[in-house]
Amino acid sequence: MKIEQPYLTLVATNKCNYRCFYCSPDGHGGMGEGFGVKNDEPELEDLVLKSRLAESMGTKKIRVTGGEPTLIPWLPELLQELGKGSSELSVATNGFLQKRDFGRAKVRISLDTIIPEDYRSTCGAGDLARVLESVFELRDMGVLDRIACVVTNRNYPNVSGYLRWAIDNDLSVKFFDLYATVLTKDQWVSEYADIGSFDSLLQLIGGVPRQIGYTKSFGIPAKHYDLPNGTYVRVKDSMEGTRYGSICGGCDSYPCQEGLYTVAYADKKLLPCRQGPQYEAGSVEDFVNNLGFLQKVFQRSYFSRAFWRDK
Ligand code: SF4
Repeated sequence: MKIEQPYLTLVATNKCNYRCFYCSPDGHGGMGEGFGVKNDEPELEDLVLKSRLAESMGTKKIRVTGGEPTLIPWLPELLQELGKGSSELSVATNGFLQKRDFGRAKVRISLDTIIPEDYRSTCGAGDLARVLESVFELRDMGVLDRIACVVTNRNYPNVSGYLRWAIDNDLSVKFFDLYATVLTKDQWVSEYADIGSFDSLLQLIGGVPRQIGYTKSFGIPAKHYDLPNGTYVRVKDSMEGTRYGSICGGCDSYPCQEGLYTVAYADKKLLPCRQGPQYEAGSVEDFVNNLGFLQKVFQRSYFSRAFWRDK
């Protein structure tokens, strides 16, 4: 199988207005995908320059994330500039600030529960009604790509109701299981829910899926389903394994659960994963050299279930 270039994740800021228990268990929160890198003073020109360079090196997808990217006042300008490039664009948000100006980017909204009394205990902040307004408005504008749900022991009992609600409201969904990034091992064990039974759940709720397949990408393979009513569902289950590369041999976190899943740019560094090494990328020369190196690492990466074998 021909392996594509890894996509570029721009960690536009580590600041976040939410305190989700799996991202900010200490309540201080706001690291997100730039885990381990402080990034609270991003520069628009720098993000645009690095995105252009990545595109010139073959990157075809750019994802803007955080922290919470809608906290950046100049996010619309950033997206307008990125939109002049050739890449597929997306933005990940919690939807609370109800922004509408995403240019040509598609929006992914995190939504772990639709039960009002569970929402704040999961997110540590926010307002479910406001977020649902964002979901429906962006859906109606044709801007919403999908909602994303991290499945844990807390929301697992209600996941079939959630899925039925998403299908009824014509919302595509991505389900993830819980990753052991910032949680201690004990916290992770007590919060983890196995989503391996989702095949049968989808058949029960959505009827027989038209198509089941694995998306071609890095990290944990995502199984995708087209349900007969047109709803698109992805299930990213770390039990399936993940991808590691030449840089993993010397990594203290090997075998990590998430593996090499994207190249992230945060605070002028390139991060091939959440807990591994970081590469200088402030200057054009460092960015080009280190992105080139990481693209090769990803393309030569190998699939393994090492994390689960060690459990
Ligand atoms: S944290 Fe990164 S470098 Fe370390 S094992 Fe995982 S993918 Fe490899």
